[in-house]
Amino acid sequence: MNEIILEVKNLKKYFPIRAGVFRRIVAWVKAVDDVSFNINRGETLGLVGESGCGKTTVGMTILRLYEPTAGQVLYGNKDISKLRGKELREMRRKMQIIFQDPYSSLNPRMRIKNIIAEGIITHDIAKGREAEHMVAELLKRVGLSPDQMNRFPHEFSGGQRQRIGIARALAVNPELIVCDEAVSALDVSIQAQILNLLEDLQKDFNLTYIFISHALNVVKHISDRVAVMYLGKIVEIADKKELFSNPLHPYTKALMSAIPIPDPELKRERILLKGDVPSPINPPSGCRFHPRCPIADPKICSREEPELREVKPDHFVSCHLV
Ligand code: SF4
Repeated sequence: MNEIILEVKNLKKYFPIRAGVFRRIVAWVKAVDDVSFNINRGETLGLVGESGCGKTTVGMTILRLYEPTAGQVLYGNKDISKLRGKELREMRRKMQIIFQDPYSSLNPRMRIKNIIAEGIITHDIAKGREAEHMVAELLKRVGLSPDQMNRFPHEFSGGQRQRIGIARALAVNPELIVCDEAVSALDVSIQAQILNLLEDLQKDFNLTYIFISHALNVVKHISDRVAVMYLGKIVEIADKKELFSNPLHPYTKALMSAIPIPDPELKRERILLKGDVPSPINPPSGCRFHPRCPIADPKICSREEPELREVKPDHFVSCHLV
């Protein structure tokens, strides 16, 4: 039976916009607006959508790098927004993040061994020779040589730096890792190596991933389930095979139609969406997708907000017409 490791319930994250001499709040950016989902232990949930849809904010709020505006993030039945002191530290150890740009996320003045050992020492896992031995083992595990531990980040390639970022996340023995566009900055051949490494590590350490990406083909490769986000909301969530073979939301269909098919004989009709993604400061009424939706019904879509409903077993869609 699946064990739920993380439950996100009605999560909202709004950022204030201040103006004037007194820096009064004049509006809110509704980056994440009522998002709910569960993740099972050992699973990879892909979170996909255009830039600005709120997927990274979901990841950062889950890790409590942002305080939620409303809603709950339950990790092993504990609400992370209520954790303090020792419990908060322990939660921070269990949940790690791998960033998109490995260069800017690694301190350029620190040697690799110190970057990786930082978490080991902070969380009292080991120190001195023992910590260094752990760093050497971690470097080997991510495909680097322990001889490289005295080097600085600028001495490595982009792919190697991402391996260092992975070793740093693994160093504290986490249970869940948020991979935030973790391969987006890498060349395609290196992307495949890093994705394979993440999959191997998941099997070896029973890791759970939230894999955030704007690239559907990458999400398709690594995910077990996929959630599609649009303007701060999840519009569709299903098992990967089901979602890619039977997308139901018009936005998901448009995203899928943009994936190139490797066979020149086969042609897929590209669905071109009109206009840009609206502003999350003042999102459209009713269904947020209605100004761009090719099948919007003027009687209902601009007036009523669709709920995320289970339309088939474990396949949830937020659309009046599905
Ligand atoms: Fe399109 Fe209406 Fe469905 Fe929204 S609810 S996706 S506007 S058809």
